[in-house]
Amino acid sequence: MKKKYSIFSIAKNALSSHQEWPKMWRSPEPREFYDVIIIGGGGHGLGTAYYLAKEFGLKNIAVIEKGWLGGGNTGRNTTIIRSNYLWDDSAHLYEHSLKLWENLSNDLNYNVMFSQRGVMNLAHNEHDIKEIKRRISANNLNGIDSLWLSKEEIQQKVPIMNTDNLRYPVLGASFQPRGGVARHDAVAWGFAMRADEMGVDIIQNCEAHQIKTKNGKIEGVETSKGFIRANKVGVVASGHTGVLAETAGVRLPLQSKPLQALVSEPIKPIIDTVVMSSAVHAYVSQSDKGELVIGAGTDSYNSFTQRGGFDVIEDTIRAMVELYPVFGKMKMLRQWGGIVDICPDASPIISKCDIDGLFFNCGWGTGGFKATPGSANVFAHTIAKNQPHHINAAFSLDRFVSGKLVDEHGAAAVAH
Ligand SMILES: Cc1cc2nc3c(=O)[nH]c(=O)nc-3n(C[C@H](O)[C@H](O)[C@H](O)COP(=O)(O)OP(=O)(O)OC[C@H]3O[C@@H](n4cnc5c(N)ncnc54)[C@H](O)[C@@H]3O)c2cc1C
Repeated sequence: MKKKYSIFSIAKNALSSHQEWPKMWRSPEPREFYDVIIIGGGGHGLGTAYYLAKEFGLKNIAVIEKGWLGGGNTGRNTTIIRSNYLWDDSAHLYEHSLKLWENLSNDLNYNVMFSQRGVMNLAHNEHDIKEIKRRISANNLNGIDSLWLSKEEIQQKVPIMNTDNLRYPVLGASFQPRGGVARHDAVAWGFAMRADEMGVDIIQNCEAHQIKTKNGKIEGVETSKGFIRANKVGVVASGHTGVLAETAGVRLPLQSKPLQALVSEPIKPIIDTVVMSSAVHAYVSQSDKGELVIGAGTDSYNSFTQRGGFDVIEDTIRAMVELYPVFGKMKMLRQWGGIVDICPDASPIISKCDIDGLFFNCGWGTGGFKATPGSANVFAHTIAKNQPHHINAAFSLDRFVSGKLVDEHGAAAVAH
C-alpha cells in the first residue's frame, strides 16, 4: 500500500493516537538471488535502489545494510548542501543533485525538510579571496548561483560574527543562495519507503563479508545471513568500501578517516544561513530545534573508530569561539564521528570496474550528503546500462590510470 502523507492522513491518524500508521518498509529475509544487490543502506545506496526501480524498471533488488538504515554517515553528517564546486565535471554532478533536492520532498511524498537558507564560504586571506572569486566565476559560467559578499555584507547577514579581531580575519565570502540543509534521516527513510513500495528488499542487520567473483564476473555476496547470488553488485559503503573492495581483489585509491561533528544545547534562532570556513575547519548552521550543528575537520590518520581525536574538537571549538564570541559559554550536547572515504583528488568514484557486474560509489569524503539524490540517480544509470551517465563519466576509476583527476581540494567541505 502506498503510504501517502497529507494533511488528511495526519488528521485521521491523530484520532487513533498515531498507532495505526503502516510500517514504512518491510523486513524481508534475503532471497537466494537478486538482479542487483546494493551493499550499504545509507542515502546513496537506498537512493540507487529507488532510481533503479523507478527509472529502469528493475524490481528484483536488495539493499543489504549491516546495521540500521542511515546509521552510517547519512545519519551523522551536518547536512550542508551546495553545488559551488570549481571544475565543470563536479559542478554538473553537484548541480544535478541540487536540482533533484529541490523537488525531492514532492518526488518521495515525504518531507526531507530541504531548507534553502544559503551557504557561505569564508575567505580569511589573500589566497582564499583569489581562490573563492575564481570559483564564483567558474560557478557562474556553469549557471550556478554564486556571488561574492563583502565583509560588510557578511556582517549584515550574520551580525554575531567577529570579522576583525581574530587570528584569521574574515575578508569576504562566497554565497550560494540555493544551498542549505536537509533532514538526514528523512532522506534515508523517504528513499527506503518508496523503494520498498516498488518491491526492493531492504535487509537490515545483514553484513556483507565477502564479494564473490568467478572468472572475472560477479557471483554474489557472502553475508551474515548466508550467501546471496546476484548478477550485479553495487558497493556504497562509504568508509568501509575499500575493505569490501579488497574482498573481491580490487584495490581502491581510498583513505578512511574519522570526521566529527557536534551539536549544542538548543537556543533561540540566531543564525539563519550556513557558514563554512575551510581555513579554520569549522562550519555551522542552526537546526529547526535550535541546536547549533557544528562540523569539524578530519583526523590526520586513517581509522575506523567512529569517534575521532579530541584535538580536532578543541581546534574546532577554538575557531568557533573566535568567530562567534557569543557562543563562548554555550554547552555542547553531543559529539560523534563518522568514517569518510577520501580519494587523492577529493572527488568521488562512481564507476564500474574490471570485474563484470561489480560497481562502486564511494570516495565522497567529507561532502557526499549534498550529492545523495544526484549520485544515486547516475549510479543507478551506470548499473542498469553498464556504462556511466554522461554526468558521472569523469568520476570513473580510469582517472587514476589516465591521470585525468578532478582536483576539488579547494571546494571540498574541509581541507583534507
Ligand atoms: C561528521 C560528518 C559531517 C559531514 N558533513 C557533511 C555535510 O555537511 N555535507 C555533505 O554533503 N556531506 C557531509 N558529510 C559526508 C556525508 O555524510 C557522506 O559523504 C554521505 O552521507 C555518504 O552517504 P553514503 O550513503 O554513501 O554512506 P553511509 O550513509 O555511510 O552509508 C553506507 C552504509 O554502508 C553500511 N555498511 C558498511 N559496511 C557494510 C558491510 N560490510 N555490509 C553491509 N553494510 C555495510 C554502513 O553501515 C552504512 O549504513 C559528513 C560526514 C560526517 C561523518
